[in-house]
Amino acid sequence: MTSTSLPQWPPNVTDEQRSALTLLATTYALSHGLVYLPPVDVQPPVPASAIHAPLALFPSPFPRNQFELAKGLQRKYNVLYARIAMDEAFLDNVMGAEKGVGRVDEFTGHLWRLWKRLREQGISQSRHLGLFRSDYLLHTANEDAPLELKQVEFNTISSSFGALSQNVAGLHRHLLATTEYFNTSPILRVENLPPNDTISGLAEGLAAAHRAYGSPSAWILFVVQDGERNVFDQRWLEYELLEKHSIRVIRQTFEQLAVSAEVIPTSRILRLRLPGLLPRGAESIEISTVYFRAGYTPKDYPTSGHYETRYLLESSIAIKCPSIQLQLAGGKKVQQVLTNTEVLSHFTSGWSSSDLDPILNSWMGMWGLDEGGEEGVRRARAQPQNLVLKPQREGGGNNVYKSDIPAFLDALPKVEREAWIAMELIRTPEGLGNYLVRAGGGTAGAVKTEVISELGIFGWALFGGPDGAIEEKEVGWLLRTKGKDSNEGGIAAGFSVLDSVVLV
Ligand code: ADP
Ligand code: MG
Ligand code: MG
Repeated sequence: MTSTSLPQWPPNVTDEQRSALTLLATTYALSHGLVYLPPVDVQPPVPASAIHAPLALFPSPFPRNQFELAKGLQRKYNVLYARIAMDEAFLDNVMGAEKGVGRVDEFTGHLWRLWKRLREQGISQSRHLGLFRSDYLLHTANEDAPLELKQVEFNTISSSFGALSQNVAGLHRHLLATTEYFNTSPILRVENLPPNDTISGLAEGLAAAHRAYGSPSAWILFVVQDGERNVFDQRWLEYELLEKHSIRVIRQTFEQLAVSAEVIPTSRILRLRLPGLLPRGAESIEISTVYFRAGYTPKDYPTSGHYETRYLLESSIAIKCPSIQLQLAGGKKVQQVLTNTEVLSHFTSGWSSSDLDPILNSWMGMWGLDEGGEEGVRRARAQPQNLVLKPQREGGGNNVYKSDIPAFLDALPKVEREAWIAMELIRTPEGLGNYLVRAGGGTAGAVKTEVISELGIFGWALFGGPDGAIEEKEVGWLLRTKGKDSNEGGIAAGFSVLDSVVLV
């Protein structure tokens, strides 16, 4: 055991055993849709091949109590972020383009102005759907301190890897069933591999929105990126919706929607015109729910026309997952502002301290760079090695870490400080490794690497309806594992691999 009560990891295997496991793993992945489109510059319009997703050969040890804690917290976070999304004055103050971050962050400002216009026109659909993922790392305050769960961030838009995380949990169960991992570790037992049914859970959230919309023959729209490689993670949800809920899904990019989408003036119904492409010779379909797997980054809006397409979708009575206001609620600035206990208490009326304390304990210290005149920047300069700076962006690759911070602060114009938060770095346990398997890229085969694992818990919430209820659920988990020396953890960006937990 390491000082942090996690076992030495990974277990030792011979080269032969590792090769045997790798063959089983990659073939299982290819057979079970644990796959990506290959990274070629020009994708053929119709893909002819897929590659297995980057994966860890062994599940990674995770303390059972912290895993259960994270799952329990999700129910609270679902409610918390639903309440935040419904608080217009709060979002105006924190994210708005007149009083908040939207003044200095162009992307946030754009989104907020779209939302303001929608409010001026009258919001057509008061319900919102969130498919959330709350991300955590394990933290040790010092070498002898116990492991604690600390939140990295809370995602309210395009939370990905739900489907692939279920498939990788299945992969590790398969390796255990077929090889028992060659008896290399006593903790590798089936009772330590928790179930993960994220696909059905996330699809259930989308189906709940579809039902609330109340037109059974309508379709669900997935708004997707052109050139997306992580399409299978999305396809699994489509198949589940059709097979288990008899709901059909249409995938469209913003570019396609600029042509196909219309909102009927009187009813505000969203329809897509797709002549020649629909069953029974239909010309157009009604959309019940708009699920955004695009639209979370300014890169998805290269022209003002793209923002107008978002506006058009938002102006309909279709239920948005997420609405602009729920997207804004997921801002890093909101996460930071919540650490002010007065702000938090505004959203947690009716909660006891046993509800609240675990939430508070899951947070690292955070502050705004614009706080107290020079104070925010002074505090950051005083301890850059313990910090990460984050702007209002999603999707990885946007943060500034440790020794890069001073020079970054030197160059940052004063007005732009408001767009950034400082967050204490989570001190992850050391001494854990795994065998990471990536397709192609010159590192084919399993490479033993010292690693850090990030747990994500999925949940959904459907809220804003006339009865004021928040319907919500915790629906599964994800483990992403990255090389210890990489600051960031994006799988799509090639830094991390898909993994699952073995509870200890
Ligand atoms: P994004 O929305 O772009 O995913 P994150 O806040 O998740 O932004 O940051 C990206 C990555 O940076 C995380 O997956 C994690 O690996 C690392 N990271 C973020 N915050 C911290 C922190 N406080 N301590 C340690 N690592 C962090
Ligand atoms: Mg993240
Ligand atoms: Mg994020």
